[in-house]
Amino acid sequence: MARLTLDDVTKEYRDGEMSVVAVEDVSIDVPDGDFLVLVGPSGCGKSTTLRMIAGLEEITDGEIRLDGKSVNDASAQERDIAMVFQSYALYPHKTVRGNMSFGLEESTDLSDEAIAETVEETAAMMGIEELLDRKPGELSGGQQQRVALGRAIVRDPDVFLMDEPLSNLDAKLRAEMRTELQHLQEQLDVTSVYVTHDQTEAMTMGDRIAVLNDGELQQVGTPLECYHEPNNLFVAGFIGEPSMNTFDGQLEEGAIVIDSVEYPLSSDARRNIEAGTDLVLGIRPEDVRIVDSRSGDRQFEAEVAVVEPMGNENVVHLRFDGTTTDGEFIATTEGIPSVSAGDRVGVEFPEAAIHLFDGDSGVALKNRELSFSGTRDELLS
Ligand code: ADP
Repeated sequence: MARLTLDDVTKEYRDGEMSVVAVEDVSIDVPDGDFLVLVGPSGCGKSTTLRMIAGLEEITDGEIRLDGKSVNDASAQERDIAMVFQSYALYPHKTVRGNMSFGLEESTDLSDEAIAETVEETAAMMGIEELLDRKPGELSGGQQQRVALGRAIVRDPDVFLMDEPLSNLDAKLRAEMRTELQHLQEQLDVTSVYVTHDQTEAMTMGDRIAVLNDGELQQVGTPLECYHEPNNLFVAGFIGEPSMNTFDGQLEEGAIVIDSVEYPLSSDARRNIEAGTDLVLGIRPEDVRIVDSRSGDRQFEAEVAVVEPMGNENVVHLRFDGTTTDGEFIATTEGIPSVSAGDRVGVEFPEAAIHLFDGDSGVALKNRELSFSGTRDELLS
């Protein structure tokens, strides 16, 4: 096991005159035994980062350290790192046993008996001991993924890297494997980096998540920190499903003016924000209250555009008067839906739940108050 450190790591791909900066000045520290999820949209540099850690890609600038020691010049074989890919990458002509033994035969001096024993122990832990004599073609996708994980784990690596390992599985199996992987990681206590574009995986699996966009690190924090205290508009929009509602506006005389809506801001909330500043107001769908009155503080009239009943909750699409589909925002409510398309309702954005972002840079100027809770109970009573 090891502590993994990325220090201002940059990767630039050059092809003649053309150059792509895939990863720029990324610094992340993964303590020994931690599970870090690297998340971001497609093309943001996740795989490149993982491949640099594995030693499969040279780094252009910066340093990667294992337990404080630079591995910049170490080849992939010299790093004690195991990687699992989305494509499983199993040897088709070898049995499961052969696939799992191969790495140990190549990289250790263990005896055949010791290898057989380690492989069998790991197979039992992964629940694949029945499959040891089958070939990959005779296995389901989920079983192949288990074998790929088992093959990586059997080597007892310092660091375990996973690149979208569950994305070829169907939704139900993916959810099962998510939990299983978490248990496994806790059991093995091995430093792990897990790449995904799926924010649900990031929220549910990681001790901490690192959010990347356009090759740049946006935030590293626990899932709930990223959810409730995003550094910027990108993280606020990327983490959470449905996404945070956002409204462009401008601070004018104690209120944010958003088209036809004036949202009063207490002096506390607008502290350090100059009048005239372009702002983005953000509020999570679960914090938008649907209320009877439309005249209270921070309550506005809106029209219900669509209601999507999901069983456990309803996704209510709303819009203020005079706005188009682009201006729709979402409230999630529990229980049986009590509003339907076409209804005119009151909505309240409690000030304790709102986020404010700088309109130009997207930097968070104010995040929600964490003590604020209980919103759901009061929705649609
Ligand atoms: P992700 O894994 O987040 O989808 P990648 O790390 O694969 O993103 O890619 C990041 C960026 O680097 C993308 O713009 C991609 O086109 C570019 N890129 C990746 N590999 C290469 C390569 N071998 N040559 C040139 N550009 C590349």
